[in-house]
Amino acid sequence: MSDDLAPATRAIAAGRGAHRPGTPVNPPVVFSSIYRNGADLEYARDGNPTWAALEEVLGTLDGGEALAFASGIAAIAAVLDELPIGAHVVAPGDGYSGLRMLLDDLVGRGRLTWEGVDIADTAAVEGRLDAADLLWIESPTNPLLAIADIDRLCSAARAAGVRSAVDATFATPLNLRPLARGADVVVHSATKLLAGHSDVLMGAVVATDTAVVDRLRTRRQLGGAVPGPMEAFLALRGIRSLPARLDVAQRTAATLADRLAEHPAVERVRYPGRGDHPQHALAAAQLDGFGTVISFEVVGGLAAADRVAASVALIEHATSLGGVETTLERRGRYGAEAHLPPGLIRMSVGCEHVEDLWTDLRAALEAA
Ligand SMILES: *Cc1c(COP(=O)(O)O)cnc(C)c1O
Repeated sequence: MSDDLAPATRAIAAGRGAHRPGTPVNPPVVFSSIYRNGADLEYARDGNPTWAALEEVLGTLDGGEALAFASGIAAIAAVLDELPIGAHVVAPGDGYSGLRMLLDDLVGRGRLTWEGVDIADTAAVEGRLDAADLLWIESPTNPLLAIADIDRLCSAARAAGVRSAVDATFATPLNLRPLARGADVVVHSATKLLAGHSDVLMGAVVATDTAVVDRLRTRRQLGGAVPGPMEAFLALRGIRSLPARLDVAQRTAATLADRLAEHPAVERVRYPGRGDHPQHALAAAQLDGFGTVISFEVVGGLAAADRVAASVALIEHATSLGGVETTLERRGRYGAEAHLPPGLIRMSVGCEHVEDLWTDLRAALEAA
């Protein structure tokens, strides 16, 4: 697919095969665990034509070679599994909870060690690179929406001989392309914005170095965290409308973030697109859009936040993010964490009409 085409066009046009009369415009969903012997593809753990179409699209969007995995966490696990026993990982202390749980689990089983850092504090992270084998970056972070200086961190990591990986789930390749900014590997939970309809689990790893891609492909083959063909098809179908969905949801998120900030029941709003976000200038320089997630705290803390979550009627009180439907939840409902304000609500803005969302949100804030 030509790099001259805009990413929004490539999301729609890539992965469809040559334009020959009579061939399907969409890739077929290939349900076959075995292939006739004698060519590269013989068994479905090694590859699948439906994954290949998805990988072609993700690869062209991120500027590398993509590998689809059964979930975002399977993609992350493959990257971590690549590290030698005893390796040290430097990762955001306030990053995605599933990553931190996986790292703790690996530490508990003697596989590696890790330390949490404030990924927005570039100098502090640079100061820890001497001890690291892998720098794990997430930007924006889930759920506090901290922004990492990917250019500086990845170039410092490279100079120190440390591998770097970026979880760009919140940004998607339309807003952020970490490989072009010096990262070795980018991972996505395609479950979220990429697939976009809260109906599938899917993950991906993208890298430019062929040796890295080959090692990760081997991890997928031997570890077996392979996606189903139907899931790959659904994720690919979701990506076709990502540019349009992201455009709508991002504009709505910006409007809702501003209105929330002005509402007397709201104490603090975190959204990288707002001038009061601590890394707003960096976000503006690094991202092509500020994303669809808003985190906010209401006056009255934890109890008031629970009342907001119980009071929304249109907005779904549910976990996860990136679907066409707007969802919210109090993140601390899974247990208190030191870095997490107990009343923090994470809201994933979808594609409903902005005024309907605001009416629902305002009523819930007033009920609380
Ligand atoms: C959800 C999420 C993941 C994990 O993805 P799954 O598809 O749920 O396995 C990883 N990173 C971030 C930032 C996420 O939000």
